[in-house]
Amino acid sequence: MPSTPADLARQTIAQNERFLVVSHLRPDGDAVGSVLGLGLALQAAGKDVLMVLEDGVPKSYRHLTGSEQIVRKADGRDRCTIVTDCSDQSRVGSVIPEDAQPVLNIDHHNTNLNFAAINVVDSDAAATCQMLAVLLPAWGLPISREVAEALLTGIITDTIGFRVASTSPAVLRTAADLFEHGADLPTLYAKALLRRSYEAVRYWGAGLSALKLENRLLWTRLTLEDRRAVNYPGRDDADLVNILQTVEDADVFVVFIEQNDGTVKVSWRARPGFDVSQIALHFGGGGHKPAAGASIRGSLDVVIQKVLTATRPILR
Ligand code: AMP
Ligand code: MN
Ligand code: MN
Repeated sequence: MPSTPADLARQTIAQNERFLVVSHLRPDGDAVGSVLGLGLALQAAGKDVLMVLEDGVPKSYRHLTGSEQIVRKADGRDRCTIVTDCSDQSRVGSVIPEDAQPVLNIDHHNTNLNFAAINVVDSDAAATCQMLAVLLPAWGLPISREVAEALLTGIITDTIGFRVASTSPAVLRTAADLFEHGADLPTLYAKALLRRSYEAVRYWGAGLSALKLENRLLWTRLTLEDRRAVNYPGRDDADLVNILQTVEDADVFVVFIEQNDGTVKVSWRARPGFDVSQIALHFGGGGHKPAAGASIRGSLDVVIQKVLTATRPILR
């Protein structure tokens, strides 16, 4: 029987001693959780592991054991490279040189470009951490309490607390298993999803005051000036797009976030039955049918016009 990508991955892990485990820029809970869960499991098997997130670990995930080991730069040593939760190599940033192909790509985006030598990709999985919760034991890597906490955090954040359509009985069973391995679900849930800064909520205010609804498309923008005015330190939307998604008068939701490097970060969300991932892919980004993103070069106004023009047709 031909080997599956997961079998090839198991062999690769068994045969290597030094690993580099990386995930995407502006890391979310699934990026942090998958790097940490896999990294700690490899360390427990005696491997030499360097965990890297170019943008560092956001404050809301620093309670996770081992997160202090995650650094922002590679160390130049020859390592077997594993990329998690990334649909293409550029999402990693500059940690891996463009001309160096990663060995292993573990991901769940339906826009994944299969950029590594071995690609373990499952677009039905709710989170990369959900995949790892099944893969690690199959690779002979036990799930300790610390690993369980990291993986459960990724599942909680990518399903936004078990409430998006990718939440399946299998997801809940995995969450229950991780809970049994010592990951305290209510505490991890509260730390990842129920805590935000005063500045973040004031920043929402700027976005909410500019909301536009047209033909079941709800959108807004956040400017550099909005961030400065309320002292918001991030360059994301502080999860505003997930709040907009609760508005029942719309089916597609877009947030434009002006950046200081001449680009605009765009976040799309959509109700089941709509696919925003292909629009994001068209603009050089990617994602899932109901949730996608892209970083697009251009001024805020120009990007807004281009993206709205490309997005409106899916509502017809
Ligand atoms: P966000 O809108 O940033 O919360 O991202 C929504 C989904 O789209 C997540 O699954 C992201 O991993 C993916 N995504 C966001 N930005 C990009 C990008 N520039 N390239 C590829 N995928 C992206
Ligand atoms: Mn992610
Ligand atoms: Mn993910």
